Amino acid sequence: MEEGGPSIFSLIINGEIPCHKIYEDEHVFSFLDVNPFSPGHTLVVPKEAAVTLDALSEESAQAVGRVLPRISRAVLDVSGASEFNVLQNNGPNAFQSVPHVHFHIIPKFEDGRGLAWPFKSSPLDHEDGARTASEIRDLLV
Ligand code: 5GP
Repeated sequence: MEEGGPSIFSLIINGEIPCHKIYEDEHVFSFLDVNPFSPGHTLVVPKEAAVTLDALSEESAQAVGRVLPRISRAVLDVSGASEFNVLQNNGPNAFQSVPHVHFHIIPKFEDGRGLAWPFKSSPLDHEDGARTASEIRDLLV
C-alpha cells in the first residue's frame, strides 16, 4: 500500500492531478501516458493502491483484465496501429517508476514507433525448468 503518501496515480484517480482520461469504472481508471512511447500510449490502473501486481486483489485484477482488451481495441482504432505491446513493470529494477500497479498499452507502428525489445534470452535448462515449474505449481494449490 501507499506508505509514502498517495502515488501520483492515486492523485490522478482522485482528480487532484489532471490527465487525459479514457475510461473509469468502480475498480479501474485509464488515461494517456504523459510521456508516450508512441501515439495512443495508454495506462490502465486499478483504483486499489497496490504497488505491484503480486499484491493486487483478485477483484481488482479481474476488473483490469476485463477491460484491457476493450481499451486496447479502442486505442488501436484511434492510433491507426494494428499491433501493440502490453507492458507491466514491478519494482524499480524492473523499470517501475510509479509505485502503483499499472498496465501500459503501447501501439507499435511499422515505422518502429512504440516499444523496442532490448532483452536477451537463453534456452531453458529442462532439468531446472522441471524443478522450478514443480515448485511454482506447489504454491498454487
Ligand atoms: P513505469 O515505468 O512505472 O512502468 O511507467 C510509469 C509511466 O507513468 C511512465 O510511462 C510515465 O510517463 C507515466 N507517468 C508518470 N507520471 C505521470 C503523470 O503525472 N501523468 C501521466 N499521464 N502519466 C505519468
